[in-house]
Amino acid sequence: MVIQEGHDLLKLEGVRTSFFLDSSVIRAVDNVSFDIRKGEIFGLVGESGSGKTITALSIMRLVPPPAKIVEGKIFFEGRDLTLLTVKEMENVRGARIGMVFQEPMSSLNPVFRVGDQIGEILSAHTNLSNKEIRNKSLELLKQVGFDEPDRRYVQYPHQLSGGQRQRILIAIAIACNPSLVIADEPTTALDVATEGQILSLLQDLVSGHRMSMLLITHNLHIIRGLGTRVGIMYAGRMVEQNVVADFFQKPLHPYSTGLLDSVVWLKGHEKRLKAIPGAVPRLSELPSGCKFHPRCPRVMAICKGEEPPMFTVGDDQWVKCYLYRN
Ligand code: SF4
Repeated sequence: MVIQEGHDLLKLEGVRTSFFLDSSVIRAVDNVSFDIRKGEIFGLVGESGSGKTITALSIMRLVPPPAKIVEGKIFFEGRDLTLLTVKEMENVRGARIGMVFQEPMSSLNPVFRVGDQIGEILSAHTNLSNKEIRNKSLELLKQVGFDEPDRRYVQYPHQLSGGQRQRILIAIAIACNPSLVIADEPTTALDVATEGQILSLLQDLVSGHRMSMLLITHNLHIIRGLGTRVGIMYAGRMVEQNVVADFFQKPLHPYSTGLLDSVVWLKGHEKRLKAIPGAVPRLSELPSGCKFHPRCPRVMAICKGEEPPMFTVGDDQWVKCYLYRN
């Protein structure tokens, strides 16, 4: 299915993913909806435990047991991924959706040469001959910034630096020319200089290949530099969606304001950081009403009763907060 620039490539509608434990059911992702358009980088931001990674794993249908997607639809290139067979989903993963995770060492197989690991995905999802696979793998190594692809092809993961390993994972992720790449904290394990190189590589690949990207991070600096739109998650919920430029100028949700106030933005202009009071609640002990209410500086009586719905504030702007009720 051909999706035009700016149209929905991925659309989540009311997705709920729960962990079924012996004595309780924990909703790790609760009623999450958002869409990613062709050609954009959508940033998913939140603290650890907010549900970002489980959302990504739900899209890939890779949530680990005892977790399960229990509700909602995940449309990708016009098909609801929740209805695909295991075999159909395997074809989507790797071929149509590429993945880049935060710890390249654990995602690469230490006993195989990196060239063979790139070739493996091509052999699983294309009809290329062995020679074509090798040539394509060398081309991919070049594309992700290796000057001597032949030398790199025969190396093992332990012979590469963290940044180089991440480049290999990116080569694997884009090998079959997917329309969507999911990058989950792709630079967390890297130093600042390497982080910058990997981020600009990802940005170039998205624009060069006309791909879309779901970029998961807790780092707002990264979203400000790369993102088109942003979604903020808190306690398994999406609490704000906004256009990146508007978000950084005027965040909507009090939690978003707290996140922005807790970050240093300019070197040499450090302002006193204001930490958000309290701690992220455990998913097994969520408060009533708005899940942010015990920490919210603008809490009202209504906030402690019913959980707020998503209110539409403007074009591409939604917020789950009673301050925006008409
Ligand atoms: Fe704060 Fe109430 Fe808005 Fe929740 S709904 S963020 S408690 S003002």
